[in-house]
Amino acid sequence: MKINTNYLNLKDNYLFSTIAEKVSDYKNANPEKDLISLGVGDVTLPLAPDVIEAMHRAVDEMSDVATFRGYGEERGYSFLRQAVCGYYAEKNVELDENEVFINDGAGSDLGNILDIFAVNNSVLIPDPVYPVYVDTNIMAGREIFYMSGNIKNDFLPLPEKKADIIYLCSPNNPTGAVYTKQQLKMWVDFAIEHNAVILFDSAYEVFVQDGDLPTSIYQVENAKKCAIEFCSLSKMAGFTGIRCGYTVVPHELVCGDMPLNKLWLRRQSTKFNGVSYVVQRGAEAVFTKSGTAQNKKNIAYYMQNAVHISNTLQKLGVWHTGGKNSPYIWLKCPGKMSSWEFFDYLLNTANIVGIPGEGFGTNGESFFRLSSFGNQDDVAKAMEILNKLEVFA
Ligand code: PLP
Repeated sequence: MKINTNYLNLKDNYLFSTIAEKVSDYKNANPEKDLISLGVGDVTLPLAPDVIEAMHRAVDEMSDVATFRGYGEERGYSFLRQAVCGYYAEKNVELDENEVFINDGAGSDLGNILDIFAVNNSVLIPDPVYPVYVDTNIMAGREIFYMSGNIKNDFLPLPEKKADIIYLCSPNNPTGAVYTKQQLKMWVDFAIEHNAVILFDSAYEVFVQDGDLPTSIYQVENAKKCAIEFCSLSKMAGFTGIRCGYTVVPHELVCGDMPLNKLWLRRQSTKFNGVSYVVQRGAEAVFTKSGTAQNKKNIAYYMQNAVHISNTLQKLGVWHTGGKNSPYIWLKCPGKMSSWEFFDYLLNTANIVGIPGEGFGTNGESFFRLSSFGNQDDVAKAMEILNKLEVFA
């Protein structure tokens, strides 16, 4: 037996464990202190009432022989894929329901999609970004090139170096930066010219407030020829614990004469068990008029936090981005602090927990991520504390 030695090339996944350890040490040493977390990228508000109701109904159906369901459809139930198509139609994107694959969240498919690509494909990944792209390619042993996101390019790198597989994340985690249609068009043209595929992660698209910004890469002409889009109900509808998302593989996307849709269907029908009927009925409710309105309220709640954090940093003169079309605020650490030094400072001096930028790539070294997924009272308290911090004076 031999192991996949590519796994030995992975960096220890120390970010969240180190944070947890530091927080736990601090709590043990200071049991009287209350910590405020502006760190986690997990939602905190409960599921929308329509989603709960739909899932209850689906459970009842399972108890009756007339409505009981066994194995589901390979791509996900047609009722949910049609609901996703309806959602895209509102974005002026026409999809065929067989282009939509229901999954248990974008995280899985973003890794699993690599099964259909050759191992000797080169990969281009933005830095900083959601770490799953890098880790899954290291596991597969692919050559990775990084494109630098920095203050100069507003953390939105544009095409320079060729590669076979290009990852784009917009709105970006952690920076909150969002590509414009013109910028995405540059990527689409580049991918078509170089016969590359774009893996477009739109997990945070629902947070885009500016109507001119794209919420799907397919809003850009010709994108169906070169892009796969991954989206999730995790942040859109609080499904981080329920688990549901979808991947769009357009029929027009081919490699030679092989449609990628066909390969992906083959992969999924072999290796993926699908999402439970109950969850898919809950997901369907997310896309109804009333479900959308309920979830919009939750998004607005988080965005109020984002605005509060952003306004505070603005007043303090701290360089930051994000927070306008994304739940994340990405700030420059004060002075010459590294992201871990600032983490320690905030924890010890302000009792606030955030995420050191270094966890998202080397370009995150002197940056820091704050999240707006918390409780509004906690955010308000945290902002009062930030306002008085000596380091910002
Ligand atoms: N993509 C990005 C950019 C994320 O930040 C996350 C989760 O935080 C995901 C995808 C995965 O989301 P899920 O697997 O919960 O759908």
